[in-house]
Amino acid sequence: MSSTFIGMPSFPAAARQAVQDAQLRHNLRKATHTIRGKRGEVVGELDDWAELRDAGRAIKDRTLRHLDRYLEQLEEQATGAGATVHWAADAEEANAIVTRLVRATGEREVVKVKSMATQEIGLNEALAQAGITAYETDLAELIVQLSDDFPSHILVPAIHRNRAEIREIFARRMAEWGVPAPDGLGDDPRELAEAARVHLREKFLTAKVAVSGANFAVAETGSLVVLESEGNGRMCLTLPETLISVVGIEKLVPTWADLEVFMQLLPRSSTGERMNPYSSVWTGATPGDGPQDVHLVLLDNGRTDTLADRVGRQALRCIRCSACLNICPVYERSGGHSYGSVYPGPIGAVLTPQLRGVQGSMEASLPYASSLCGACYEVCPVAIDIPEILVHLRERVASGPGHAAERAAMAAAETVLGDHRLLHMAQRAASAARGAVPRRLPGPGAGWTDTRDIPDIPPRPFRDWWREHEKERARGGGSGDAGGRTEHEGGDR
Ligand code: SF4
Repeated sequence: MSSTFIGMPSFPAAARQAVQDAQLRHNLRKATHTIRGKRGEVVGELDDWAELRDAGRAIKDRTLRHLDRYLEQLEEQATGAGATVHWAADAEEANAIVTRLVRATGEREVVKVKSMATQEIGLNEALAQAGITAYETDLAELIVQLSDDFPSHILVPAIHRNRAEIREIFARRMAEWGVPAPDGLGDDPRELAEAARVHLREKFLTAKVAVSGANFAVAETGSLVVLESEGNGRMCLTLPETLISVVGIEKLVPTWADLEVFMQLLPRSSTGERMNPYSSVWTGATPGDGPQDVHLVLLDNGRTDTLADRVGRQALRCIRCSACLNICPVYERSGGHSYGSVYPGPIGAVLTPQLRGVQGSMEASLPYASSLCGACYEVCPVAIDIPEILVHLRERVASGPGHAAERAAMAAAETVLGDHRLLHMAQRAASAARGAVPRRLPGPGAGWTDTRDIPDIPPRPFRDWWREHEKERARGGGSGDAGGRTEHEGGDR
């Protein structure tokens, strides 16, 4: 994956710092609650939302089951329509392909359509090393680029910035990248958008090469689809002579009829709109119309390994709508940077460790970056059970190196809980020693008892109490519970 976020501390350390930033928490809360509210309204308009969601899940699952077949169909159709298809096993290979293609044009600049796949592989950094400048044209991506920042949200990468900060960034940095910000620029959103429009127009009109991703790739015709709100993508997809699209292999849908389902699910889930303002579709190259040299780079970069995992593969259904980010109480307080990857929030917590592996401390911390409240699953338009994957990945982390004590404790628990005689003996021993059990655990257990009380241990195990209770009853002595309160209920330590 991208080198962009390498060096980030693990989630708990990064989040601890983020939650102390009151401005960040304010920006995030305002933005996520606004989008969340809009989504709720437009989703509520559809009586068949649950059926649509089921259809989206089923289409993605079917596509992933036969991914090899659909990828070959896509390649055949795209090639037949005049595109050149490339296969990239990892980020390095994808970056090398794109760099070679740009160099072949003789150009030193490219314009970019907002694309998670190119961020994932760190394409801008790889192009910069080859002496090629990539210009982001999405407004939020432009803000991130101008401020040498990292994206913090899938849909709104600069969600952590307020308009005063954006005004300052534009005024300070635009001149270094092209057309400067106008004198006396204010922080009114319309003024800021106009400054960006003027700045970008020069890029659109001079660029010979564009790089994009795609929201969907339709196998039956070899077409690529980009959905967007600003129209910048359409400028990049139509004006330059060469177009290079980097697309994750999971973006496939088999047919146009399948795409129809996602055209309803995605805009409602992401921007809270019934329909996205711009939908661009291109199929290979058309003589005299749009880019004449069209390339499709199909990116694996850990996706095949993810597909091999029975539980984890559902993350590949993701259509990057960001509804799970906007509802997540952990994301709302910790912000996107804490996740150390271009995929923040709940989907990042399950996707990043699968694409990168859980060997790194940052990746290993992500499956724990959740309260498991389940809100992400409720809003996901393709019904990805994120909590299930989180627990599954926690198991993977815990079975790796560095968790010997935890594994030994679990093995001991398995032995005791699997044998009722051993369990009874352990309960009696615990009851006998109940007076010596501390209220707070020492050492590594301290983190657990910092936020929880150790439950009271009853003076005798339930089995013993029950046996005596039954004997008492047989002797006709009633329930044996003085005052209706059982000894077993404890609380008398
Ligand atoms: S996991 Fe679901 S809710 Fe989250 S971004 Fe992906 S599709 Fe949207």
